[in-house]
Amino acid sequence: MNHARSHDLFSRACELLPGGVNSPVRAFKSVGGEPFFAERAEGPFLFDVDGNRYIDYVGSWGPMIAGHAHPDVLDAVATTMRNGLSFGVPNALEVTMAETLTRIVPSCEMVRMVNSGTEATLSAIRVARGATGRSRIVKFEGCYHGHGDSFLVKAGSGALTLGLPNSPGVPTALADLTLTLPYNDFEAATELFDKAGSEIAGLIIEPIVGNANCILPRDGYLQHLRELCTRHGALLIFDEVMTGFRVALGGAQERYGVKPDLSTFGKIIGGGMPVGAFGGRRDLMSQVAPSGPIYQAGTLSGNPVAMAAGLATLELVQVDGFHERLEQSTHALCDGLETAAREAGITFHTTRAPGMFGLYFREGPVHGFADAMASDAAMFGRFFQAMLERGVYLAPSAFEAGFMSSAHGEAEITATIEAARGAFAACR
Ligand code: PLP
Repeated sequence: MNHARSHDLFSRACELLPGGVNSPVRAFKSVGGEPFFAERAEGPFLFDVDGNRYIDYVGSWGPMIAGHAHPDVLDAVATTMRNGLSFGVPNALEVTMAETLTRIVPSCEMVRMVNSGTEATLSAIRVARGATGRSRIVKFEGCYHGHGDSFLVKAGSGALTLGLPNSPGVPTALADLTLTLPYNDFEAATELFDKAGSEIAGLIIEPIVGNANCILPRDGYLQHLRELCTRHGALLIFDEVMTGFRVALGGAQERYGVKPDLSTFGKIIGGGMPVGAFGGRRDLMSQVAPSGPIYQAGTLSGNPVAMAAGLATLELVQVDGFHERLEQSTHALCDGLETAAREAGITFHTTRAPGMFGLYFREGPVHGFADAMASDAAMFGRFFQAMLERGVYLAPSAFEAGFMSSAHGEAEITATIEAARGAFAACR
């Protein structure tokens, strides 16, 4: 594959952007090589500036659940933007979005729109602290909730990929307020709450950990956390930035039947535009300014064009059978990859939820962060490069979930499995 134009752009970018990128994992640091620069995208495909086409399993890190450049989403954006790009006063689409989110996710009785997942999680813990009058929060090792100071403690995603789970620049006094737990460990959670429960404002969790590959909750684990939070007067916060509207229409809380006090969203609800949201119980959300004293604001929050893109995407995921089809295609892909690995004599395991998956170069099962870390990252790097060379773009990190969209059909799945046969053989 020719990457001359991408190479030239990356050289220029490296002079002016830290690491040549505007978000760390894009730099391919852990898998080696240089990133390609996208020119356009359509359906399940990304096309780079050198004319190469890739079957895309990153989907802009989650938003593109209906595939790239879906005509309904583009039409909604085009129609809306002709009326102006931002008003600074309320617009009708914000109301429609709030009605749509609260209908799809019943635990959210009220919502506030923001511009990113990071803003959503920062705001949610402010509500938790403001409403409970407590300062400590609990998060899980390997979970990523954006780059807010309180979350860069044993963080996942790019922080984990780059070996920076605790970032310089986060004051120790603040980091000390973040307590961490191993995911899927029932006893550790009970012990922590027994010891410090009365100081904990909220526990935030990715109900399926998509930022340390893809780790599913053990049976009853999320219910256990629900009970602990209720017993100790702490708020349960589900970070559904990744899982929301993906693993079920109502997200992980619907799939696992657990009702959080607060939830955070992003990615899909913007359809590719910068959007986030947090929401939850009415008695909590009504404490947010201006109806209450907990301050939160945003110049572009509820932006009409972003609302239009998000609403059009949410229409698409509400079509009957959407998530069942997504689940089937995720299984077809993962089963095919496991078979191809077995045939090549490679130790390999996948985890899956509808529309998201984890690839592990180790034996299963994978239940915790340590299991995920035990995957052979060097092997993943070789596999990633061999797949890229064959026109398949996987997340450029051994610790990030892959994403499928409704645009990934049988032809793309078959082509991906065929590419994997060659790639497994090449990286043996
Ligand atoms: N929460 C989760 C679970 C995420 O996966 C991410 C981003 O990947 C975030 C929060 C932060 O979202 P953003 O990158 O939009 O700030």
